[in-house]
Amino acid sequence: MKFKRVRGVKDILPEEVEKINFVVDICRKTVDTFGFKEVVLPVLEKIELYQHSIGETTDIVEKQMFKIVARAENETETIVLRPEGTAGIVRMFVENNLKDKYPLKRFFYFGPMFRYERPQKARYREFYQFGVEIFAEAPPSSDFLLIKIANIIFEKLNIKVELEINSIGCVNCRKEYIVELKKELKKSNELLCDVCKNRLERNPLRVFDCKTDVDKIAKLSEKVSLQKYICDSCKKNFDDLITILDENKIRYKIVPTLVRGLDYYNGVVFEYKTQLLDAAQNTICAGGRYDRLISELEPQVKYACGLAFGINRIVEILPKYEKKVESIKVGVAVVDERFLLPSFSIINKLLEKKDVQIVGPFSQKSLKAQLRLFNNENCKYVLIVGEEVKESKVVIKNFFDNIQQTIELKDLEKYII
Ligand code: ATP
Ligand code: MG
Repeated sequence: MKFKRVRGVKDILPEEVEKINFVVDICRKTVDTFGFKEVVLPVLEKIELYQHSIGETTDIVEKQMFKIVARAENETETIVLRPEGTAGIVRMFVENNLKDKYPLKRFFYFGPMFRYERPQKARYREFYQFGVEIFAEAPPSSDFLLIKIANIIFEKLNIKVELEINSIGCVNCRKEYIVELKKELKKSNELLCDVCKNRLERNPLRVFDCKTDVDKIAKLSEKVSLQKYICDSCKKNFDDLITILDENKIRYKIVPTLVRGLDYYNGVVFEYKTQLLDAAQNTICAGGRYDRLISELEPQVKYACGLAFGINRIVEILPKYEKKVESIKVGVAVVDERFLLPSFSIINKLLEKKDVQIVGPFSQKSLKAQLRLFNNENCKYVLIVGEEVKESKVVIKNFFDNIQQTIELKDLEKYII
């Protein structure tokens, strides 16, 4: 075939859509019980939004954004396909003054995100996230709620996960640390990969996001640990959360190298990992606090935190799922084209009374071919619309026990059980 899909995007076929819906339904129901409201974010945003919030020197902003140059009359504007949801929801929150509209400022979204990455298993250029954001709620209760929600969802999905958690401190804690980190990185400059060499000057914390040499980074973090530089307030927030997790018997692992790929985070960050995917793609949910970002843009709001589930990755490791209960299937066959119109009025009447799924009617298909299709489609009943309709009758065949009879149309619903 001449046309192929764009590299890194996925065609999602019905069976997979069913799994996605299963996962997203569970996510929706779970956040609903905690009062979260759904928002729909635009796919298109101005590039500046991400440069400001995600950070100029992050992978996403440096090289992963799909850009569209939109030309208005005499100016051009760079618009991007959203690479993630948090920046957009923050913009939406501020622009629509949501802080005054909703006493409880808890929101969620679901939809596709776009990143120009190297495509591989569980890493696509268009992928789906279900995200949850909490505004104006201080730590540690809001961090705990995020973790609680993720745990409930993974439990319902029957997916085994490992929660990794860290505090990346605030700007104050990081200032001194970054100086030390840079010194240390310069010492081992020749061991760094090309990407990290570049990160060293521009955004040294990003080195911990290196996917090329995970071991080296772990060793580095032992030498220069951010934890030593964490200020009292950040330390208290972190310790308080750990206490609540312990009290609730929630298992976690503190991972000092966990920094997350976005600059807007501060304080507590966390990731949920699975052993069922390769190390470079094994994070299936991730989140953290971004108090500084929100308070910069909306000074009256001091707190914000959120998380996002990687829906494609979750679907890829889903152990089992409940298939949607299908309603009874009724095939509607026409003996010939003359009976097409009466068949539609039979269908209309049947649908008023019964919750059934209709297959047919078809034009230009022999009766035999119609029956074969209904059989393959697992129809329980077939209505054969022919000469009998003139006497307000129809032939009904039960495909499961093979009984065929001619019945009065007015009694039809009684036969469909
Ligand atoms: P990774 O470290 O795997 O690149 P990330 O830190 O860039 O992930 P986030 O921005 O935190 O990811 O997004 C949250 C979740 O969205 C990830 O944990 C992952 O499950 C999913 N995700 C991110 N990028 C992709 C992608 N390209 N394809 C599929 N899922 C993705
Ligand atoms: Mg990434």
